Amino acid sequence: MTDYKNLIKLSAIASMVKDEFRGKEYWDIEKCSAAYGLAKVCPEGCRACIFRPNSKGVVARPKFLLSEKEFIKDAKRKALMGARNYKIVAPIRGLDNPALLKKAVRIIKSIRKEVPQIKQICASLGLLTKEAARALRDAGVSEYNHNLESGRSYFDSTRYSLRHTYKDKIDTIINAYEAGMGICSGILVGEGEKMSDRIELFSTIRDLKNGKGKIIIDSSPFNIFVPVTLEHVANKRISAEEILMSLCMFRIMCPNVKILPNAGRAYFSDYLALTYFIADGRSIHGAYLTKGVTEKQDKKIMEIIKKTI
Ligand code: SF4
Repeated sequence: MTDYKNLIKLSAIASMVKDEFRGKEYWDIEKCSAAYGLAKVCPEGCRACIFRPNSKGVVARPKFLLSEKEFIKDAKRKALMGARNYKIVAPIRGLDNPALLKKAVRIIKSIRKEVPQIKQICASLGLLTKEAARALRDAGVSEYNHNLESGRSYFDSTRYSLRHTYKDKIDTIINAYEAGMGICSGILVGEGEKMSDRIELFSTIRDLKNGKGKIIIDSSPFNIFVPVTLEHVANKRISAEEILMSLCMFRIMCPNVKILPNAGRAYFSDYLALTYFIADGRSIHGAYLTKGVTEKQDKKIMEIIKKTI
């Protein structure tokens, strides 16, 4: 049973940490316009992923999987709609294949040349070697997304990925950082892990520093597990209270990280408005795969927040 008294206390502490370390901006919307492409199925076979081969009964897929040319068209279309930040996502192992690396570099350079309204290009292209990381940076990628998703113990004990290890993920983040890109690495809450697994993950995010003691992970999408296959739909769901408790713990343990509630925000349920005071007060309009919280709902909540502070 939920201990509401302690949940309220924990939320208050997390909110004070947010004000102290991240400031008191509660209503900026950060739009992240992501597009998926280059592959339809990923051989890495991660547990919760709709791109794993043989996922049974997939109930949500990105509407479009773009080819090389379509990425450029899509970036132009989104720039006309006001996007200044464009993220290229591909369900692939990584860029260890030279032909794929060349293709990714070509797309990034073409967007920079043909869509000058896009000021920032982010990429989420799987595992990176040092060379691939440098090639992306040189082509113009300023931020690299590689989600840690879970703590190491949970990752290893569940055989989270069929092909890559937790160390591969950490190496990718370090390689991207050393190449000069900002690091965005998200977490996934509610797919069966315990609170102790999440605490382990928050410690990893907090403690991943370079030789000068600088935190490597700047921002972290806080994703809530959304059932996207029939197998998932059958699983027991995490409660809104436990999600909130996890967000508070994340805030308290990683006060300097920009925490961005992202996928599955609708599962915060009645606590959604509270998240603006604990996370970075910004939302990513990121219901890419399933119907989530709309921009209109976000704006309504922000209007309420403005009136209360
Ligand atoms: S590496 Fe990424 S795209 Fe591939 S299965 Fe894992 S989560 Fe899905």
